[in-house]
Amino acid sequence: MEVNIGLGFLISALIAAAGYKKRALTPGGFWGAVLIGTLIISFGGWLWFALMLVFFVSSSLLTRYRREEKKTAGQKFAKGGPRDFIQTLANGGLGAVLAVLSSIFSSPLWFGAYVGAMATVNADTWATELGILSRRLPRLIINGAQVPPGTSGGITRVGFLASVSASLLIGMAAVTGLLIKTAALHSHLWIAGAALISGTLGGLLDSLLGATGQVMYYCEKCREETEAPVHSCGRHALQIRGKNWLNNDGVNLISSVFGAGLGALLAIFWAG
Ligand SMILES: [Zn+2]
Repeated sequence: MEVNIGLGFLISALIAAAGYKKRALTPGGFWGAVLIGTLIISFGGWLWFALMLVFFVSSSLLTRYRREEKKTAGQKFAKGGPRDFIQTLANGGLGAVLAVLSSIFSSPLWFGAYVGAMATVNADTWATELGILSRRLPRLIINGAQVPPGTSGGITRVGFLASVSASLLIGMAAVTGLLIKTAALHSHLWIAGAALISGTLGGLLDSLLGATGQVMYYCEKCREETEAPVHSCGRHALQIRGKNWLNNDGVNLISSVFGAGLGALLAIFWAG
């Protein structure tokens, strides 16, 4: 291993502390980010870590972008804003596992899987944070019905374009990183294609699961649907659809596993 664990810990802690200070992370989210960052730097290396940073920085900035408008538009969000321990694991835990595996079994499939997972979580976050600002009402991915902003499974053109851009950004960052190692553009371009396909399809799966399997509640007092079992007003909400074990974090995790699987397949196909 080229990178030592102590240095990985130190750098992750510094960046997570900045995230905590900017209110992008809760105290639990801080420790989740430190754990994931340390594993990714130590086992994946700098390029892996840089891609995680692209996700973390861009999604934190977008979360804060026009935050006041989102507060009124997005009451349905179970947890907008700062990410907690479970959310950091749902977003980055798979990446950390892939980093560890890549240090044990040498193959391009791990990097493909990692890029696919990062593209998917980035796509989902960008689509959520920018889609909610859309002037047009979202349409449910399964039947095209108009739904209020912030509804899981609702998609907008803005949100879809955001998810495509988010996937491409991860892909271009990966190509840039590989170019720094070896200047052979033609042999690295596949990873941009893998990111674009995995992130876009992973983001669509996220919406599909959000519209079908994800648990949804209804607050009788505010007459509002919500993703949280306890509504923001403090009242326990009634479950109206979905599986009670599948919340937004679960949907994100399943989608990123799917994105990773696609990325791995494309890596075997194009780079293996
Ligand atoms: Zn309520």
